[in-house]
Amino acid sequence: MTKRLVQSPFAGRPLVRPLYQSVVYATETPDALDAIYEGEAGYTYSREGHPNATAVAGMIDALEGTEGGVMTSSGMAAVSLAMLAYLKAGDHALGSEQLYGRSLRLMEQELPKLGISTSLFDPTDIETAKAAIRPETKVILVEVVANPTLRIADMEGLAALAKQHNITLIVDNTFTTPLAYRPLDHGADVVLHSVTKLMGGHSDAMLGWVATSSVEENTRIDGLGMTFGTTAAPFDCWLAERGLLSFQLRYERASANAAALADALAGMKGVKRVLYPTRPDHPDHNRASALLNGRGGNMVSFELEGGRAAANAFSSAAGMVLAPTLGDITTTVSHPSSSSHRAVSVEDQEKIGITEGFFRVSVGVEDINSILEGFEEAVEKSIEAS
Ligand code: PLP
Repeated sequence: MTKRLVQSPFAGRPLVRPLYQSVVYATETPDALDAIYEGEAGYTYSREGHPNATAVAGMIDALEGTEGGVMTSSGMAAVSLAMLAYLKAGDHALGSEQLYGRSLRLMEQELPKLGISTSLFDPTDIETAKAAIRPETKVILVEVVANPTLRIADMEGLAALAKQHNITLIVDNTFTTPLAYRPLDHGADVVLHSVTKLMGGHSDAMLGWVATSSVEENTRIDGLGMTFGTTAAPFDCWLAERGLLSFQLRYERASANAAALADALAGMKGVKRVLYPTRPDHPDHNRASALLNGRGGNMVSFELEGGRAAANAFSSAAGMVLAPTLGDITTTVSHPSSSSHRAVSVEDQEKIGITEGFFRVSVGVEDINSILEGFEEAVEKSIEAS
């Protein structure tokens, strides 16, 4: 059991860690300052670390099996920091074509401006990754369970390929979570999270985290974060610490709800197809069974029969909350073609199965009957509008 008691200079220690809302930390002497800069435990300036970040990083370290993981100001800060830590001008990076929309923008629009060329591959087909490898390929970026299609990447194939070519394999584990899969245990070099999502869990803290299995390498990445200024804010870390205390409980309940919702949606008139990793009709069902420890997770995607009119009617139904996020304690739906994937061409959206009727559901911990009633009513509305 994790003890929560916090060190304190007073008699009587607080059960809840205080919020260290201070940008700067005073020291007694230059010698004391030297000691901190040379590695003694302590803080000087919050861009370079603070107790609330150390606490949250330690909790995520425990989940992913790492030490010295680095907190960042958002999930995208973690993605950017990881990429910048392993790439320089002249290098080539490979990314899954099913990455989160902003990660795709980073690959396709921003990295090329820094002289880093990029290509995309199909994470379910290792041959497409093999074909895209060049002598200067230094990084592969992938999500185990892709957002929003919930396709499962060939992680075993990618780890072997990365090893063979001395490429750094970076895994965004936000969707999957370490409760289902720990990338560093399976040959990945770097793992990262948007802590904003399920780990924080309450849509009130914007954070990321990144780590490797080497403490020295994590210290190097931490140093880069101090220079690029990707530091996490104390209050967000304070909120995320509270969220993480119930992470496992929320994950279990939300996953059970998601599995039940997926089955119910699959039987509803007006629903064309449902994607949920542990369902036998999932296109990567075998891989999901092998990789995910039997855990389907809290995310369900599905496609309505109708187009934009059906999507509008569905999402405006009383029980639906349309919000471009995931991992909240309550159920939310997102419409990728008008949000996360709006910068992706319609042609490329269709290639990965995103249409106007496609929705991604982040299932919460509510009573399952209220979730099912809400979806039945909303799908009914979508049929009326088609
Ligand atoms: N990675 C994945 C898989 C995401 O879904 C998101 C956001 O939705 C991010 C990274 C970016 O996280 P943040 O919004 O915290 O920057």
